[in-house]
Amino acid sequence: MNIQQGVSLKDKNWFQTGGTAEHYAEVKSREEFMSAADFARENHYPVFVLGEGANILISDEGYRGLVVRPVPGESPEILQSKQESGYEYVECMAGFQFQKLIDFCLDNNLLGIEEFSGIPGTVGGSVYINIHYFEFLLSDFFVGGTVLDIESGDISFHEAGWFDFGYDTSKLQNSHYVLVDAKFRVKKTTDLETAYAKGRRDEIMRHRANRYPGSHTCGSFFRNFTESDDVYEKLPVVNGRKMIYVAYYLDKIGVKGSLQVGDAIVSSRHANMLVNQGNATSEDVINLAREMQQLVKDQFGFIPQPECQLIGFNEYPLLTS
Ligand SMILES: Cc1cc2nc3c(=O)[nH]c(=O)nc-3n(C[C@H](O)[C@H](O)[C@H](O)COP(=O)(O)OP(=O)(O)OC[C@H]3O[C@@H](n4cnc5c(N)ncnc54)[C@H](O)[C@@H]3O)c2cc1C
Repeated sequence: MNIQQGVSLKDKNWFQTGGTAEHYAEVKSREEFMSAADFARENHYPVFVLGEGANILISDEGYRGLVVRPVPGESPEILQSKQESGYEYVECMAGFQFQKLIDFCLDNNLLGIEEFSGIPGTVGGSVYINIHYFEFLLSDFFVGGTVLDIESGDISFHEAGWFDFGYDTSKLQNSHYVLVDAKFRVKKTTDLETAYAKGRRDEIMRHRANRYPGSHTCGSFFRNFTESDDVYEKLPVVNGRKMIYVAYYLDKIGVKGSLQVGDAIVSSRHANMLVNQGNATSEDVINLAREMQQLVKDQFGFIPQPECQLIGFNEYPLLTS
């Protein structure tokens, strides 16, 4: 494993903004992951694990510490389920691209996770945020995974319960644990059912391509509300239900395709997606997001908070009150 210095992160995230990593290592195996963590611990460097960069905004100042990027190592492995007939487990490294895992499963007549087709990112990043698409949450399929404790260097396997999944949340957040590999439960099926599932995958991807911008964005910038949010009680009821979708409020403030700061703009396709038109800085994106927060606050009395992970900022750069 090679540890490099002063590596640009701009070409390693979907927003295509941000500064450099003070130290940077790509790891292909569990052993390399552990060596990178040892290096950071010995030198007292903080660690940031970078996936495909599809859900982050990196500060223009970059990241002071070690950025570790798991890259695809071995192919996924299929394991027989001892508990349930008709189901199998598929196990793969955290750096594996999630779409490639879906395709691998479909090629082996294993169904379930194709519901997440077209969501960019690695297995590690997907477990970290517990990716969702309509009613599906990744935790519905997750069986367990190996985690590395960055502080102690210990490595251990944990079943799904340990990960404490919620909507957009998992135990990997705000912790010193990083995911090394993961195991998912999938249904063993016939060629015919797989053919239908491949059609569904293609349909989901077509739908997404029409609905969302395809580059220079982190997907949804702000997160939807949940019952555990302080503002939940303040949310209005629309058509008999609490309006938890942040895009509803962002649509109402009329910023779609128009509000812009520097070269960062609110997508014309989706009010919750911010797009770098080519030359935006991360500061542009932050200032745009703050304006959006202020407009929602002025009209509705509460402030949306980001789903996008903000990396390398000395202070929290968005509005809290
Ligand atoms: C166009 C677009 C559409 C999107 N649509 C959706 C959608 O429909 N549903 C949805 O849920 N998300 C969506 N997203 C968000 C994004 O795809 C997911 O959050 C994805 O899982 C990010 O994975 P990543 O590998 O790129 O993680 P990164 O962006 O690189 O990292 C995100 C966070 O995960 C952490 N992380 C990464 N790997 C590990 C690891 N091995 N161990 C511990 N922590 C780790 C990072 O430290 C960081 O905090 C979309 C994004 C884009 C750009």
